[in-house]
Amino acid sequence: MLRIIRAACLAVGLFMCTALAFTVTTVSSAEASSLTCVPSDLKQTLSQIQSQFGPVRVVSTFRKGARIAGSGKPSYHASCRAVDFYPPPGKHAQVVSWLKSNHRGGVGTYSCGAGHIHIDNGPAYRWHKCAGGKGRKHARSRSAKRAG
Ligand SMILES: [Zn+2]
Repeated sequence: MLRIIRAACLAVGLFMCTALAFTVTTVSSAEASSLTCVPSDLKQTLSQIQSQFGPVRVVSTFRKGARIAGSGKPSYHASCRAVDFYPPPGKHAQVVSWLKSNHRGGVGTYSCGAGHIHIDNGPAYRWHKCAGGKGRKHARSRSAKRAG
């Protein structure tokens, strides 16, 4: 896909190149947040959340070749067994605690500017990461050390 865009850029110039890249990005992000390939157990978890807390906004499901940052292992997103979503406004903490006691697979949460929640249907594990901000992770780990 990128090779096609690059070739088109050379042929038609910068303006068209920008327009084309925009179109491609829009199309692929729509595909990447489609629930079509997501297993039914994850869809069920999402619909339970929606019926209890309100509508969620799915941001990412399938990411071809996705790897877990820092480990190099394939992510559940690479096989469409994971969903990243934003809970209804003001319901983040409630949705997370509901997931921790009701969801059988993995539950991941983010801080530092990224407020989405990750669920997958792998082994039951819980993780929390700092993502989306600059420098806050460092400050946080330093103050955590000081605290004990
Ligand atoms: Zn995720």
